[in-house]
Amino acid sequence: SARAGIVVTGTEVLTGQISDRNGPWVSTQLLDLGVDVAHITVCGDRPDDLRAALRFLADEHVDLIVTSGGLGPTADDLTVATVAEFCGRELTLDTAVEAQIADIVRSWSLKRGADPDLESVRAATRKQAMVPTGATVIAPAGTAPGVVVPAGDRTPVVMVLPGPPRELQQMWPASIVADNVVAAIAGRTESTTETILMFGTAESELAETLRDAEAEVDGFDTLEITTCLRRGELEMVTRFAPHAADAYRAVADLVVHRHGATVFSTDGSTVDDQVAELLSGHRVATAESCTGGMIAARLTDRAGSSAYVMGGVVSYDNSAKTDVLDVPAAMIAEHGAVSEEVAAAMAAGALSRLGADIAVSTTGIAGPGGGSDEKPVGTVCFGIARAGGEVVTRRLVLPGDRADVRERSVTVAMHLLRR
Ligand code: ATP
Ligand code: MG
Repeated sequence: SARAGIVVTGTEVLTGQISDRNGPWVSTQLLDLGVDVAHITVCGDRPDDLRAALRFLADEHVDLIVTSGGLGPTADDLTVATVAEFCGRELTLDTAVEAQIADIVRSWSLKRGADPDLESVRAATRKQAMVPTGATVIAPAGTAPGVVVPAGDRTPVVMVLPGPPRELQQMWPASIVADNVVAAIAGRTESTTETILMFGTAESELAETLRDAEAEVDGFDTLEITTCLRRGELEMVTRFAPHAADAYRAVADLVVHRHGATVFSTDGSTVDDQVAELLSGHRVATAESCTGGMIAARLTDRAGSSAYVMGGVVSYDNSAKTDVLDVPAAMIAEHGAVSEEVAAAMAAGALSRLGADIAVSTTGIAGPGGGSDEKPVGTVCFGIARAGGEVVTRRLVLPGDRADVRERSVTVAMHLLRR
């Protein structure tokens, strides 16, 4: 299949001030198109470094390079000029693009009450209308147009997109259908990706199953299988060509046969999708101690969640547990705040206080301090209360540091809601 490289530019990304959202996003899009991503490179806003990254990828014989960032009107935005030089093309002023950008910028000014004359706006934004000869211009989502430069004798197709993720994502569909990009990857993209998600199977157990599959299944070596542990869930992603579909089926059947109890998705749906579907028509409440509102945040991350999320209580201090959620103080004194008893009372309290028909609770020791022999760091108790039903509880010891424990707690809560 076709191969691509991604170059993320931006000193703020290189120094870690902001974390890169474009490399992973573009990579996912390319993988969906069946294009192999060979490298993601991050470089600062320095033409020399960008040039070196482009040269490296060209030497690696990628078919496509995607760059992000450095398309602004300021002097440190040099991506288009550097790419043009790399591809051996002149920059020429595209007057149609110039007019388009000037219109956008002027309409912004007018909205703010300013009324600059068109010529001065043009002069300020002219740099963004300089286009490598023969390149396809991608209409701007902000003010920066993208360009797609066709392949040359020794250079691959280069797709140049802006840095702000929203702009880059908005311009992606038009960029990928620009003639020369499709030509670079066409006919070589027939691979399928399938995902199996598990919750409760260890990576080592899956590895053993895959070793057996390797011995038993014909064509196993034509499958590209990656496994990864994410937020406490185990993800097995397989890419394969059409002729390997039977081999994939056989491997998937073996995995489901061995680990069926923990497999919760084979169709690409996430636990969040499943919870949203199950909860629609219900009223959900949360009562959170150690997760501090992260479950409510995760639930409400989804558009449309107002249809089923009632609300939640962050009852961090014991007084919030007793006063807001009606947890008996004597219960906390007897069992401790981190106990299945208190988790159950929190869930029941949220259920009645918020008029919900399902409520989830967490109370735990996220660390680094606060652990004991009996309740080590990572001990988290969960409660699920349902209207007219018994409260179900769980007590787990979750691995990792404070951030891991909290994140995993949210995942556990999502899986409890899915039941
Ligand atoms: P602009 O016209 O906004 O300057 P640009 O194409 O020059 O666009 P950059 O200057 O590289 O883009 O980045 C502008 C802003 O976009 C950055 O300050 C940052 O907030 C965001 N951004 C850029 N690159 C990334 C990235 N890889 N991941 C996440 N955010 C990014
Ligand atoms: Mg910029």
